[in-house]
Amino acid sequence: MNFCGTLRKMKTNYCQDTGKVSYQLNLDNEAVCDLNNYIGKEVSISFEGKIFCTNCNKKIRKAYSDGLCYPCMTKLPQADMCILKPEKCHHHLGTCRDPQWGLDNCFQPHTLYLARSSSIKVGITRGEVPFGRWMDQGANEGMTVGIFPSRIEVGKAEYTISEKMSDRTNWRKMLTNDVTDVPFDEFIDMAKGLLDEDQRQHLVENPKSYKLTYPVQEFPTKVKSCNLTKMPYISKTLTGIKGQYLIFDNEVLNLRSHAGFEINFSTDNA
Ligand SMILES: [Zn+2]
Repeated sequence: MNFCGTLRKMKTNYCQDTGKVSYQLNLDNEAVCDLNNYIGKEVSISFEGKIFCTNCNKKIRKAYSDGLCYPCMTKLPQADMCILKPEKCHHHLGTCRDPQWGLDNCFQPHTLYLARSSSIKVGITRGEVPFGRWMDQGANEGMTVGIFPSRIEVGKAEYTISEKMSDRTNWRKMLTNDVTDVPFDEFIDMAKGLLDEDQRQHLVENPKSYKLTYPVQEFPTKVKSCNLTKMPYISKTLTGIKGQYLIFDNEVLNLRSHAGFEINFSTDNA
């Protein structure tokens, strides 16, 4: 099998019955094959130096935030700093890069969630149960703890909580499966203590947790990150996938950070 195209982050699927995560290789925004089928098999990835902006498709030398060219990075509302720091939303000042996009995307219900990895992390996103986000982060368990009416409101809540709780995933620990077993309950109690009366009313009653298991033969004990700019040809046994990383024994490749890279993906036996 042989596929060619520009990389996007892998498409993910969560099975609610088994908790199993499955991945599809995403080239040019199309799912081209089920990657779980290739675990334990040798795969080859080659990169010939061409990168294309994931928004405007222009050929570029360097990609910014998830595969954008420099002009797109400075113009698109979804690449503005307030997306990463929603408490800094500036829509009310009339300076939103695209006020209508802001209304359609930011002034919509957002979820406050907890995700289990090396530590318990707090995060925000759209979607009531954000399986996609948890899979992208390689979380082993996730729980929706609140639903807020807008990105700025959930962002303020997250900002308050993140002073006492991590909002980052440690990717090395995520990939070696060095996962905390501290119960979520402690964090919910802590969050309740940090939020004000008005924010607390958006927390959900009896939140439900979901476990996620990833297609990994054996977790590495140490990981080394490779990138296609320095190593344009990889031909190795795929031993697992977690988060947006392909795992080849102790070497890992973050596909998300290669968005826009034109690659050739091949395997002998499928
Ligand atoms: Zn562009």
